[in-house]
Amino acid sequence: MRRLRRCKILATLGPASADKATIAALHDAGADLFRINMSHADHDGMRERIAMIREIEQESGRPIGILVDLQGPKLRIGTFHDGAVMLKKGAEFTLDADPTPGDIHRVHLPHPEILSALEPGHVVLIDDGKVRLHIVEATPQSARALVDVAGRISNRKGVSLPNTEIPLSAMTPKDRSDLEAGLNAGVDWVAISFVQRAEDVAEVKKIARGRALVMAKIEKPQAISRLAEIIELSDALMVARGDLGVEMPLEKVPGLQKRITRMTRRAGKPVVVATQMLESMIQSPVPTRAEVSDVATAVFEGADAVMLSAESAAGQYPVEAVATMNRIAEEVETDSVYRAVISAQRAAAPEPSGADAIAVAARDMAETLDLKAVCAWTASGSTAFRIARERPKPPILALTPNRDTARRLALVWGVHAIVTKDASDIDDMARRASKFSNREGFSEAGDRIIIVAGVPFGTPGATNMIRIGFCGAES
Ligand code: PEP
Repeated sequence: MRRLRRCKILATLGPASADKATIAALHDAGADLFRINMSHADHDGMRERIAMIREIEQESGRPIGILVDLQGPKLRIGTFHDGAVMLKKGAEFTLDADPTPGDIHRVHLPHPEILSALEPGHVVLIDDGKVRLHIVEATPQSARALVDVAGRISNRKGVSLPNTEIPLSAMTPKDRSDLEAGLNAGVDWVAISFVQRAEDVAEVKKIARGRALVMAKIEKPQAISRLAEIIELSDALMVARGDLGVEMPLEKVPGLQKRITRMTRRAGKPVVVATQMLESMIQSPVPTRAEVSDVATAVFEGADAVMLSAESAAGQYPVEAVATMNRIAEEVETDSVYRAVISAQRAAAPEPSGADAIAVAARDMAETLDLKAVCAWTASGSTAFRIARERPKPPILALTPNRDTARRLALVWGVHAIVTKDASDIDDMARRASKFSNREGFSEAGDRIIIVAGVPFGTPGATNMIRIGFCGAES
């Protein structure tokens, strides 16, 4: 099975895609990776889904990536005597440390560290920003606020604090337990929610110890102001537009999406654009024109992947949503302006490393000579990441002895990974690269491809060889 597009599709699993037949249909329709959202899954549910995906992988013969998305420190208010209250504009409302049920004047905020961090002027958003308050007076026991945007709030609604530095790690005890369970179950990627600083990423990487790669979800203003450091420590980023659009003015989200995508691409790390991409397909078999345009924009920008959330997890048309994304990405990538747009965002210069210099040379040679594929022999996947950074015109065929590497590469732009034993020598490397390229439908006898490798074989980080290979008839 070969995809006819470079941008990957990440589909969230949920009640609408809980059985193996539906997950297989999502994969057939174009899903390259699956996301398990730990806000809605328990450990047994996660393990069941992973087992089904691994069976589908076995049956289809294609590596499939699995991302576990940790819930993170979701803040919530306490409860009300009557279950809910209606807050009027200009009214006073207090968030406090008193655990008794609240009323029209006050409610418990069961996070003492947040009460201590609130200061006059800070904004408090409740229920995805439907109600907005600003603090006028704060002590560690209570924070008095005025209502700026009126509305109804009910028991345990979520709280967002766009301009309060939250003195909490991005990992709660639940996240730690979910992370261990995910790592033990063999997930390929772990996403961290509500990242505020690079240290949040470092904490997860320390626990993961290379067993999975780590993706930082960018959804807080605090992370935007530290983007460069977060990108440097992360293995990938997600533009998590849902919460980002709660904590930042909505009209800023498109510009931020472009900024995050470009910076992450320049660093040679995968970037995912997520949330509400085909939202209307939760109920409708056909998306809106604006949604099609939104997916197309992300593909034009060179995002490594576009993501479906409720569309594939809880919608009525999960398979149609994946198929729609697939069609949009295929169409955009054959559009006559696509190459110009994607190349314009390419990093101006390679990083000063052998792997980067070779990746740039591979792209130049492949495009100058109109070669059919860039084949990379890669143990850790890093050579394929560096080549993908250059967004070459031909597809990238990653040949790896490591099944985990192949699964991780399911997220990376343009990479088609094959698990095969390492090459024994340079001739074997060239012969088998041509054979796989022909077999996977990238080339035919008489075509030429680029081959990149590190010699001696099996030495991670030793990318030092580039060669033009001829595809033989025997392949
Ligand atoms: C988001 O906020 O856009 C997001 C992807 O996170 P979640 O679905 O966990 O809210």
